[in-house]
Amino acid sequence: MSEKNILKIDNLSFSYGTQKVLNSISFDLQQGMQASLLGPSGCGKSTLLNVVAGFHEVDGGEVWIEDRVASSALTHIPPEQRNTGMIFQDYALFPHLNIIDNVTFGLQSMPKRAAKTEGIKWLNLVRMGEFESRFPHELSGGQQQRVALARALAAKPKLLLMDEPFSNLDADLRRALVREVSEILRDTNTTAILVTHDQEEAFIFGDHIGLMRDGKMEQWGKPAEIYAKPVNRWVADFVGGGSWLKGVNAGGSVSTSVGSFKLDSGCEKSQDGNDGCHFEVLLRPHEIDLIRCESASQLDGWNGGEVCRVVHREFTGQETRYVVEVSGSEKVDVTTDGLPTFETGEEVKLALKRSNPIAFEVAA
Ligand code: ADP
Repeated sequence: MSEKNILKIDNLSFSYGTQKVLNSISFDLQQGMQASLLGPSGCGKSTLLNVVAGFHEVDGGEVWIEDRVASSALTHIPPEQRNTGMIFQDYALFPHLNIIDNVTFGLQSMPKRAAKTEGIKWLNLVRMGEFESRFPHELSGGQQQRVALARALAAKPKLLLMDEPFSNLDADLRRALVREVSEILRDTNTTAILVTHDQEEAFIFGDHIGLMRDGKMEQWGKPAEIYAKPVNRWVADFVGGGSWLKGVNAGGSVSTSVGSFKLDSGCEKSQDGNDGCHFEVLLRPHEIDLIRCESASQLDGWNGGEVCRVVHREFTGQETRYVVEVSGSEKVDVTTDGLPTFETGEEVKLALKRSNPIAFEVAA
């Protein structure tokens, strides 16, 4: 049985004055799902979150929270009646209240003792139980953000909305906290949306990703789908990137300077392309092996690519990054695990680890 919708957004649009900021956005979230809204700065992520929270009235379309319309051109349910919780970048704890009073602030309808027990339960869950009597200024940024999470969860929101809550923290702490928060939300079956411009954070957190650009949802899907089957070149570049090679369709395969490939089934348009159609083929750095020229022809399924030359090499400690020149002009980034094995200037061939790379048809 499928879980019920907690949030449904249908053809939503919103403008600040005459500036259209959200355009035909649609997606939905079922109970317990965690989504990341990802995209470059200014694309409308925070605005979308604020619209869901009820801070803005919409121009058109609908926001449903559970089984009622919260926003439409005719309806606007105020934020405090939407049963959503919000966590911001700047922690927003009350500085004059200690930690337990911060967490129980929204539980004033409960008897005091029961509220405190409930508050301690949530503080323990975020591993802050021992700090209940401290004040916000006595905690680190990461600890304050955990308290903010406990406070939001204690109010048992139907939907938790998080706007870049980790971006003030340093990189290691941020990654650890994203993982931890995502586990807590999964354990408590909390439905949540995280706004971030950081791809890694979005992918760690979200079981679904909404990739936004200029107020539109470019692609909505599971992280692996977005990475493996981007709907257009912009998405492919934003999520992972890589090197684009020119290709031409010949007999159902695309011929490039590093060999011929059948195209991925996600590129129906490309596969249907007639002979002579032009393509751009994406080679992701981790999806390529460098092969010594003399060994290449012995590989199973060798696709006949040209001899290339290593023009740059850097070793980061965990991996080696090469830039390889193909056909004297096109350049391909290749990342291999471990120590460097090829010299700058050495001739190599490229072997793709996936047989059907991402490709998009382009005008000749
Ligand atoms: P993101 O969260 O993706 O960085 P925002 O939702 O904050 O993007 O902003 C989307 C667009 O709306 C930007 O062009 C921004 O300048 C504009 N904008 C954001 N807030 C306001 C506001 N209060 N008044 C007018 N324009 C705004």
